Amino acid sequence: RVRTRVAPSPTGDPHVGTAYVALVNFCFAKKHGGEFVLRIEDTDQARSTPESERAILDALHWTGLRWDEGPDVGGPHGPYRQSERSAIYQRYAAELLANGHAFRCFCTAERLDAMRAAQRAAKVPQKYDGHCLAVPADESAQRAEARESFVVRMKVPSEGVSVVHDLARGDVEFAYADVDMQVLLKSDGLPTYHLANVVDDHLMEITHVIRGEEWISSAPKHLLLYGYFGWEPPKLVHLPLLRNPDKSKLSKRKNPTGILFYERMGYLPDALLNFLGLLLVPPPEGHEVFTVAEFAERLHLEKISHGGPVFDVAKLDWLNGQYLRMLSTDALIERTRYWGFGRERVARIAELAKSRVERLSDLAPLTAYLFAGRIPVTAESFAPAKLDANTVRKALALAMWGLDGERAFDLATIERVLKGIAEALAVKFRDLSRVYYVAMTGSTTGLPLYDSLELLGRDLVRERFRVALD
Ligand code: ATP
Ligand code: GLU
Repeated sequence: RVRTRVAPSPTGDPHVGTAYVALVNFCFAKKHGGEFVLRIEDTDQARSTPESERAILDALHWTGLRWDEGPDVGGPHGPYRQSERSAIYQRYAAELLANGHAFRCFCTAERLDAMRAAQRAAKVPQKYDGHCLAVPADESAQRAEARESFVVRMKVPSEGVSVVHDLARGDVEFAYADVDMQVLLKSDGLPTYHLANVVDDHLMEITHVIRGEEWISSAPKHLLLYGYFGWEPPKLVHLPLLRNPDKSKLSKRKNPTGILFYERMGYLPDALLNFLGLLLVPPPEGHEVFTVAEFAERLHLEKISHGGPVFDVAKLDWLNGQYLRMLSTDALIERTRYWGFGRERVARIAELAKSRVERLSDLAPLTAYLFAGRIPVTAESFAPAKLDANTVRKALALAMWGLDGERAFDLATIERVLKGIAEALAVKFRDLSRVYYVAMTGSTTGLPLYDSLELLGRDLVRERFRVALD
């Protein structure tokens, strides 16, 4: 029975890469009558947030892909959130220690820093030097007993090669000499990604691990762990990373990477999935529009293209147009309402607009920017601002970064960040707010600034700042 999973870490905005990986996992499982699991990998306590988890679930939900098991829907292999599974990982780490496949490492941060500095100076790869391998087992146990701080690291053979058999790429070899003695359990007793990932894929009976290419270098560690536990490893497939048109890795500085951005821009989820599918499975000439079910039919893991798939927004635009034209008028109206004209949103906009209009016909021009995607502005658009061009650029960049650095995106946060910038740049807030009005609305008017940003949402706001800075 085929079981696949997508395992996002809730450390930021939902990434289109997650939708791309989820699409393939979903389709592969469904094609074989199997199950698709959603697991939340929140072992990085400092960076994981419940807001990010919520946003990832919502965004994946928006795509229309559905999971059979997950933190929200439950299932027989739960819990599906790694932060709720610490006791399980500790048990398996203890087993590795007992069998001699892992060891306690008592090295202090100072020692590790000095080791890394020496490796940098000698221009050799950065990895743990095996210092604590020499600590005898009884001494190691005593020191742990005496509450000395330690991490658990996995052992790695000192020579030989690991052969990673990837269904799409064939055999990829890694010399063990280049594989680090990975920390499995941190000093606080919580697992790292590697231990949790392997233990969960095994316990959740995942048969095919389909994930982004950036993880292939972790595969030798994972395969060692499967071997140490005596488990059969799942089949591995590493998907090529999405690329910017210049072939660099898709990055939010060059291309929006948030699923929610595409939602706010008014793309249809089916069009986005179709677009992502096109990148992996080139269709026969003239058959570029296909459903998820058709994509599943055509998907063969051994045959996916590996050339860096370029995220070509023009292609997505074209596809989205095709999907919009396929909607009945009623469906189009329903979609549009759901997208930007929900009762609550419209009520809030109406409330804010009321005092600023004299005729109903003033409403549309006043609020159009709340229903638009990008607003074309250039350096000249800011000429009426009282601030010089350099300060304008700084103000735009500081706002973009400042808001990006905040977890919340509500009125109070927006106000605090923007007021902070006026202070930092020692300019009048009134002058500064004109700059932000231009970036957000294309003019110097609109509904109140903070409300406007909140109504637009984080993703469109970032994009408008990006356009203004371009
Ligand atoms: P950025 O560089 O834009 O900040 P990132 O690499 O930090 O992006 P992560 O938060 O690390 O993004 O990744 C979120 C998820 O998206 C991960 O599951 C990752 O595998 C996937 N992902 C990130 N970049 C890509 C890409 N270019 N192609 C496919 N998947 C990607
Ligand atoms: N948590 C990892 C991520 O964010 C999962 C990697 C994997 O699929 O093994 O991409």
